[in-house]
Amino acid sequence: MAIILGIESTAHTFGIGVVKNGKVIANVKDAFSTSDGEGGMIPIEVAKHHVTVKDEIYLRALEEAKISENKIDVIAFSQGPGLAPCLLEGMKFAKDLSLKLKKPLVGVNHCVAHLEIGRSVGAKDPVMLYASGANTQVIAYASGKYRVFGETLDVGVGNFIDTFARYVGLGFPGGPKIEKIARDGKYVEIPYTVKGMDIALSGILTNLKQKFDKIKNFDDKEINYVLEDLSYSLQETVFAMLVEVSERALAHVGKKEFLLGGGVACNSRLQEMCKKMCDSRKDFERVKYFCPERSLLVDNGAMIAFLGEIMFEKKANVFSYNGLDKVDILPKQRTDDVEVIWR
Ligand code: AMP
Ligand code: MG
Repeated sequence: MAIILGIESTAHTFGIGVVKNGKVIANVKDAFSTSDGEGGMIPIEVAKHHVTVKDEIYLRALEEAKISENKIDVIAFSQGPGLAPCLLEGMKFAKDLSLKLKKPLVGVNHCVAHLEIGRSVGAKDPVMLYASGANTQVIAYASGKYRVFGETLDVGVGNFIDTFARYVGLGFPGGPKIEKIARDGKYVEIPYTVKGMDIALSGILTNLKQKFDKIKNFDDKEINYVLEDLSYSLQETVFAMLVEVSERALAHVGKKEFLLGGGVACNSRLQEMCKKMCDSRKDFERVKYFCPERSLLVDNGAMIAFLGEIMFEKKANVFSYNGLDKVDILPKQRTDDVEVIWR
């Protein structure tokens, strides 16, 4: 019987989850946010947020798991990729706890954790569309690693949506707000940029900003669209791009499961489009659609604990509490850098 504590701090979220024998028994978090149109994510500010909330999140996680800290067997933490100042706070917290409790530490890749938590809802060998703030990748397992079959060539889809939302004064995070107002929109043509298995978003962002400027400045009598229409068109276009590369990956690698992950996957229109794509493939090969609940889609400590347990059992990237000087953050670690020895 092992109890694993997982710490997430790669970006805006500081989260702590507890997993006992593959079951999530606590998942507590607090995310940095701003309410006005001004603020974005300044890494140092976000790291300060993590320092402020960490002890409270820890106590709440223990309370939710109904355990005292001496019951923890292993500590797992998000080693990368992410914002260095934020990762450092998570690692510091993890190392302090490892030393205090004299328990081993496991360094977990954040993107791989998003994929592995799919097991908790039944996805054993999926193609995953990982659509989050900083990361946008289509990932699947092949020959010892999680391979990236397609990805964004510039910004992550969540950051892209957030940047547009901030530009039009909706604050951060923008995804849920754009989703809400998109419901009242109609389609306006914007660029569609799929390049092979990859997507590009910065040109679309420029196009959307220019269209919004015209609304703001009333400088073109020809304008027949409003912000709701731009939000709707953003979602329809960019989500279609994501679905296109996901479907092509499914067809190429011949997997029969599709999994959604990342904060943008909370979007019900994206979920609907992905589900439709999976259903429409039944003439070729049945593809099962999986989407974890919201609390496991966004950045969270439970997925770190979940993968931490799997890795601990296979002795993958495990460190003793008296060998912690060998452990460092990996801000630029890529999904396909990780040797997946646990499969
Ligand atoms: P993550 O980095 O995985 O925690 O995801 C955070 C990102 O998810 C942010 O960019 C949010 O704007 C985005 N997000 C959250 N909810 C939604 C939503 N309903 N629709 C689109 N994006 C969303
Ligand atoms: Mg994430």
